[in-house]
Amino acid sequence: MAAPIPFVDLRRQYAAVGEELDRAVLDVLGSTQFILGPAVAAFEAEWARYCEVAHCVGVASGTAALELAYEALGLGPGDEVIVPANTFIATVLPLLRLGAEPVLVDCDEHGLLDAGLVAEAVTARTKAVVAVHLFGHPCDMAALAAVCDAHGLVLVEDAAQAHGATFHGRPAGGLGRIAAFSFYPAKNLGAAGDAGAVTTGDDALADRVWLLRDLGQRHKYEHEVAGTNERLDTIQAAVLRVKLPLLAGWNARRAELARAYQQRLEDVVEVPRSPPWGESVWHLFPIRTPHRDALRARFEAERVGHGLHYPLPLHLQPPLAALGHRPGDFPVAESWSRTSISLPLFPELELHELDRVVALTRDVVEAAA
Ligand SMILES: *Cc1c(COP(=O)(O)O)cnc(C)c1O
Repeated sequence: MAAPIPFVDLRRQYAAVGEELDRAVLDVLGSTQFILGPAVAAFEAEWARYCEVAHCVGVASGTAALELAYEALGLGPGDEVIVPANTFIATVLPLLRLGAEPVLVDCDEHGLLDAGLVAEAVTARTKAVVAVHLFGHPCDMAALAAVCDAHGLVLVEDAAQAHGATFHGRPAGGLGRIAAFSFYPAKNLGAAGDAGAVTTGDDALADRVWLLRDLGQRHKYEHEVAGTNERLDTIQAAVLRVKLPLLAGWNARRAELARAYQQRLEDVVEVPRSPPWGESVWHLFPIRTPHRDALRARFEAERVGHGLHYPLPLHLQPPLAALGHRPGDFPVAESWSRTSISLPLFPELELHELDRVVALTRDVVEAAA
């Protein structure tokens, strides 16, 4: 039997950068500056520069980044926040924890928030819109900003899958009022554990997130607000500093692999495409086909890695039950959950592996048709 093909293989990345990573981690261990050590501020400056935005605050995870961004904006009970029905649940859980009400809207052909539907969902209680750059595709930020400007709403970015994605040449992270990044290990830029960041061009918001992540203190034992402990770990910051210079090359390789998949599969399945208003960084490559379940079974049998993004849409998940949605409420998001399957795509994936994924996919779809 042919060798298994992983969905993501971080060991291949480690083989390329492991020595440098080991050294960076050992440096932190030797320094014993574990909490907010110098690597944290250094990475924050580097990430802000990469995103072409004034401020970056390192935090403990992408979920923490979203929660602190929402909290810094003052979102809470009585506030409605418009979010896509098609996203990872971490976009909305922090809203529920703050007592704000997520208002779901369906997605467009790219799987992204549809600005027309956002406009229809605005009420007198709407305070913010969360643009999730899902799969690595930038949202149509001009269309969303127009809706937000017309109604006085704050535009937030969930950029957890979009490190380096651009909207008309401008990178994610500086396209709204405030943005959240995740550096979960399998993201385009991944730490060696949990890590995240908030970016913003707004001085006051940056200061509030900076206070909130570290127990509300500006100086040790001088606490200004009821903050929490969601600091970026120094070891993770050191790891991220080693990997950041490689991100652009990794994203370019992802784009090359995405093009190869598109060319080889576009006549048999629906392939994802970069939207016309920007450049995707191809965090995921979800194809859509009515024969998804047969393809999934074949991948299982042949040990080909794959993912479902996402198997159960948000509105049918127990934490959102209080919103009272039913199957059928968000038909596009629901159709994605039934028909999409994400193919292996990571910078170290080899073309012969991609060709085998393509051959299996064509085989299953052509046999079923
Ligand atoms: C990964 C992810 C998150 C959460 O990030 P964590 O670091 O795992 O907490 C949030 N939103 C989206 C869209 C994600 O893909």
